[in-house]
Amino acid sequence: MLPMSSVMAQDAPRFGLAIHGGAGTLSPDNISEEQETAYRAALEEALRAGHAVLADEGTSRAAIIAAIQVMEASELFNAGKGAVFTSEATVELDASIMDGATRQAGAVGGVKTVKSPIQLAEAVMLHSPHVMMVGAGAEAFAQEQGLEQVPNDYFHTERRRRALERVQQREREQQTQGHLLELSEADDHKFGTVGAVALDQQGNLAAGTSTGGMTNKRWGRIGDSPIIGAGTYADNETCAVSATGHGEYFIRGVVAYDIAAMMRYTGLGLTESANAVIHGRLTEMGGTGGVIAMDREGNVAMPFNTTGMYRGQIDAEGNVEVHIFRD
Ligand code: ASP
Repeated sequence: MLPMSSVMAQDAPRFGLAIHGGAGTLSPDNISEEQETAYRAALEEALRAGHAVLADEGTSRAAIIAAIQVMEASELFNAGKGAVFTSEATVELDASIMDGATRQAGAVGGVKTVKSPIQLAEAVMLHSPHVMMVGAGAEAFAQEQGLEQVPNDYFHTERRRRALERVQQREREQQTQGHLLELSEADDHKFGTVGAVALDQQGNLAAGTSTGGMTNKRWGRIGDSPIIGAGTYADNETCAVSATGHGEYFIRGVVAYDIAAMMRYTGLGLTESANAVIHGRLTEMGGTGGVIAMDREGNVAMPFNTTGMYRGQIDAEGNVEVHIFRD
C-alpha cells in the first residue's frame, strides 16, 4: 500500500494559472516603489480571481476571463480602462480567447465601447459562426448579446493621455528631421497588454489576451493580440500561450503558434520551445516582448527579451508568485 502522503499527492487536483500584464523597458529606475506595489497587488488579485474559478472546478476558459477582467478593470494595464490612446486620442481595444480542448476561438479588433473585450471575444466564439469581428460590426454584436457598453471616455486616463502627447511631440521632432517614426520608437516602451493561460481540473488548457494596442496607433491598426496563432493560442496537445510586445513582429513570427508547433513537431518541451521562439526567432527578427505559456502538465514558461514583464502564476494550492523585472 502507498503511504498516505503519496496517495494524497496523487489525488490532489492539478491545475494552475499564469498571467502577464505586459512586457517592456521596465526597471526599478522607471517604476516607483508605490507603483511596483500597486502592480504586484493587481497581479495577485487577478491570479486569485482565476484560481477561485479553477478551485471550484470551473473551466480554464472561465478562469482566464476572471483573471483578465480584473486587469481590464484596473487603470494600471493597457487593456480596458487605462488602455493606451490612438493617434486620434480615442481608445480602440483588441482581444482574443482560445479553448485548448476544442480549438475553438473568438477575437475582436478595434472596439470602442465594450467594457470587457475578452468577454466579447468569448461571445464571438460561443454565439456566432465566426472567429473574428472588428469595429462597428463587433459593437453591434456586443449589443445584440447584451454585453455591457460604456462611452469611450470610460477607458481614458490622464497617464495615457500624457503618454500620447509625449509620443506625438517626439514624432513631430523626428519628422522635422525627415524620418517617420516606427511605432516602437514612438511608444513608451512599456507595453502593458494583459493575458492569461490556465489548466483546469478536467485537464483542459485555455489562453486569452486583451489590449489597447500601441500608443499613437492609426489607420485602424490591429496588433497581434486578437490574432489567433500570433498573440494567443491554445491546444490541449501542446500548450496555451498569450503574448505581449511589439505586435507587428508577433504577427510576422506567428509567435504563439510557433511555440506550439515546435512542441508538436520536434517533441521539445514547453520551456525549450518557448525560449527558442522568444530568444531565437523573435529576437533575430528584431521583435521585443515575451509570452506566458503552460502545457497540460501545468508547467509554466515565461520568457521575454525586454528588461521586464509583469507576470505571475498560481498553483493548485494557491501559492502565488509575482515578478516584474528579470530575476
Ligand atoms: N502586443 C500588443 C500590440 O502590439 C501590445 C502589447 O503587448 O503591449 O498590440
